[in-house]
Amino acid sequence: KFKVAVNASEKTDRAAIQVHDIGLQIVRNSAGELGFRVHVGGGLGRTPMVGPVIREFLPELDLLTYLEAILRVYNRYGRRDNKFKARIKILVKALTPAGFAEKVEAEWAHIKDSPTRLTRDEIERIQSYFTEPDYATLTDQTELLATQRFEDREFDKWLSYNVSEHKKPGYASVTLTLKKTGVPPGDVTDYQLEQIADLADAFSFGEVRTTHEQNVVLADVRQDRLYDLWQQLIPLGFATANLNTLTDIICCPGGDYCALANAKSIPVAEAIQRRFDDLDYLYDLGPIDLNISGCMNACGHHHVGNIGVLGVDKKGEEFYQISLGGSSQHDAEVGKILGPSFARDQMPEVLAKIIDVYVEKRTEEETFLDTY
Ligand code: SF4
Repeated sequence: KFKVAVNASEKTDRAAIQVHDIGLQIVRNSAGELGFRVHVGGGLGRTPMVGPVIREFLPELDLLTYLEAILRVYNRYGRRDNKFKARIKILVKALTPAGFAEKVEAEWAHIKDSPTRLTRDEIERIQSYFTEPDYATLTDQTELLATQRFEDREFDKWLSYNVSEHKKPGYASVTLTLKKTGVPPGDVTDYQLEQIADLADAFSFGEVRTTHEQNVVLADVRQDRLYDLWQQLIPLGFATANLNTLTDIICCPGGDYCALANAKSIPVAEAIQRRFDDLDYLYDLGPIDLNISGCMNACGHHHVGNIGVLGVDKKGEEFYQISLGGSSQHDAEVGKILGPSFARDQMPEVLAKIIDVYVEKRTEEETFLDTY
């Protein structure tokens, strides 16, 4: 297993790059040239690690040869003798990031200018497959949206939370939240998928994106059609305006579906969503990532949730361990385990207690993570 993740946004990390085997952050150097900051050796699961930087700036054309050098070093020194240690994160830790980087640079020196080096022509050839949609020339619909917001408070909430700015005037990016209380987070039926496909055709150049936060994005929606789209999303259950709030939970299938689980995750997510069902209160709490996994494999990314919940088995009974302070953003961090584990029926009140402490201790403008 080997995973590479790429992120282009300076503000947020949309791909959790620092918890992948190789994470690439697109950056510009002081001369304005495009390249990558290279992280290696991140990962979750049994041995969670944030991938350290082994190169601050890798020029764009050197990407493939440098990645090949990383793989060669891993191939040569990695622990093939032990399947629990056969991951690049174990090697980076053993050699130290500086030691690993040194070996990569030495290997790279041999292949840097080999025929596999990218060329400008090759990048342009690949780029030609990723053309922009046929955007209309529009202006931002500030007045129209202000009127619609004023007339409909629910639309106002949805616009504030589930709709993002677009680089093109007159367009917006819309997140369809798959986080309606009573439905397993991230679940869609075949019927709903058909509906999403139809909405993509009607509103967003036929393109749909999924996020690792288990939501769906229509990336290119005209602002003057947002109200129409919103009304069509409501009956489908995709208009819950809780994006990035406590109830926008990442949750693995857990014991309801997964043979590897120690405990169920979906009922915990639902109980928490029911306990925190007041959107205005959630907005007051600000952004909080709550991630739930049913076992150490960490498919629900619990290590990097601001609040992480892990299902554990205690003498055949299902319990839940909590960690705090994790992040999968640019300030990536593995959360710290908080004391003992709890029974499932205690979880909503345990969460409420954690939130109470945050509310009591926070100062103006502080997010949950800041206060932690
Ligand atoms: S974290 Fe564990 S329980 Fe959840 S889906 Fe992954 S393997 Fe299954």
